[in-house]
Amino acid sequence: MNKVYQDETELLYSGTDFGDKAKNPETPPIYHTTAYIVEDTQDYDFANNGGKYFYNRTANPNRDGVAQAITYLEKGEDSIICSSGMAAISTVLLSLLKSGDHILFSKAIYGETIEISEVMLKDFGIQMSFVDFTDLEAIKSNIKENTKIFYTEIIANPLTDVVDLEKIAELAKENGVLTVVDSTFTTPFSIKPLTLGADIVIHSLTKYFGGHSDITGGSITANQKIIDIIQPKFRWLGCCMDPNSAWLAQRSIKTMAMRVNAQFSNAEKLAKALLELPMIKTVYYPGLESHPQHELAKKILNGKYGAMLSFRVEDDREKVDEFMHRLKLVKYLGTLGGIRTTIAHPATAFRNEFTQEQLEEMGMYEGLIRISTGAENIDDLIEDFTQALEVFK
Ligand SMILES: *Cc1c(COP(=O)(O)O)cnc(C)c1O
Repeated sequence: MNKVYQDETELLYSGTDFGDKAKNPETPPIYHTTAYIVEDTQDYDFANNGGKYFYNRTANPNRDGVAQAITYLEKGEDSIICSSGMAAISTVLLSLLKSGDHILFSKAIYGETIEISEVMLKDFGIQMSFVDFTDLEAIKSNIKENTKIFYTEIIANPLTDVVDLEKIAELAKENGVLTVVDSTFTTPFSIKPLTLGADIVIHSLTKYFGGHSDITGGSITANQKIIDIIQPKFRWLGCCMDPNSAWLAQRSIKTMAMRVNAQFSNAEKLAKALLELPMIKTVYYPGLESHPQHELAKKILNGKYGAMLSFRVEDDREKVDEFMHRLKLVKYLGTLGGIRTTIAHPATAFRNEFTQEQLEEMGMYEGLIRISTGAENIDDLIEDFTQALEVFK
C-alpha cells in the first residue's frame, strides 16, 4: 500500500493522478493548470523548447484546439489565440511595427482599433494614414517608403461597404507591404482572406466564433514565418485566452458552420423583407442587388454576405427608442455575432467621439439601425421587426 501522509499533506496530493484511466474523453477536459510537471532538468529543457506543455501563458491544450480549428478554417499555417479581439489586434500591431514605420489603415474599421493606433501607436513614433479602402487610387497615393502594413476589414460597419481584398493584397505585394485583415464580420464561411492574398487574418472570437455572447477572445492566423515573429511577443505581452474560455470557444466552433450559415441566410431574407416596408428609406446589405458593391461582394464573399445589415428610417431619436421598446424578441446591446438577433444604434455608440456633423458624414444618422442577425425562425424575426417598425408609419 502507498504511504499515507498526515491530513495537510494528503489533501494536497491525493486524487490528482488518474493515470491512463481518464484517457480519451469524448470532449477534451479544461486544462485549468498554470503549469505542467517536468521530470528532471533534461525534461525541463525539452518542455521549455516547446516539446510539451509547460506554462499556461506560453501554451495550453484548449487554446491549441481553438488554434487548430481556426488555422484549418482560414487555410493558414498556425494561429495564436488571444484574450480578446483587441488583444489580437494590438499584439499584431505591436509585434510588427517599430518607431518610424508607417501603416495605412482603412478608415472604416473598428473604433477601438482606431483609438489604440491614434493614441498609443502614435506615441511610439509609428506614423499612420486613414484612407478609404474602397478607393484603390487613394491607397496607392498614400503609400510611403516606410509603409509596412495595409490594415482593413472586409465589410465596413455600419454601412456595409465592401473592399476589394484581392486588388489591395496585390498592391501590397507590389510594394513589399503586409496585408492585415480583421475578418470578424465576415467569418471564414464567407471569405478566407489568406487565400485572396492577405498575410494575416484576425478575428474577435467574442462574435461569431463564440456565437453565444458568453466569451471574449481573439485570434491571429498567418503562415509559420509570421506567426514565429509574433509568438514570442504575444507571450511577453501576456494576452493569452484563459483555458475556460478556450474550451467554450472550441465547443462553439463545432456548431459554427450550422449557426453562421443559418444567420447568413436569415440576414439575406430579412434584408429583402425590410426593403419592402414603406417606412424604411434604405437597407444596407452586400447581398442586395441594390448594394453599390454587390458584384464585388458576390465575387469575393462566396455568395455569403454576412449576417450584419443596417437600415435607415426617419431621423427621430424618440421614435427610435419607441421602436426598441416595441421589439419583443430582438434586444439592443453592445456586441454582435450572437445566435440571437440584436440591434445597435451607431449614432449613440459614437455620440461621445464625434460631432453630429461628423456622424452624419459617416452615414450614422439618428435613423440608422444596425442588425446582427441571429438564427431564429425567419418568419418570427420579420414579424417582430415589422410590428415594431409601425412606430415610423
Ligand atoms: C468586436 C470587434 C473587435 C474587438 O474584439 P473584442 O473581442 O471586443 O476585443 C475588433 N474588430 C471587430 C470588427 C469587432 O467587431
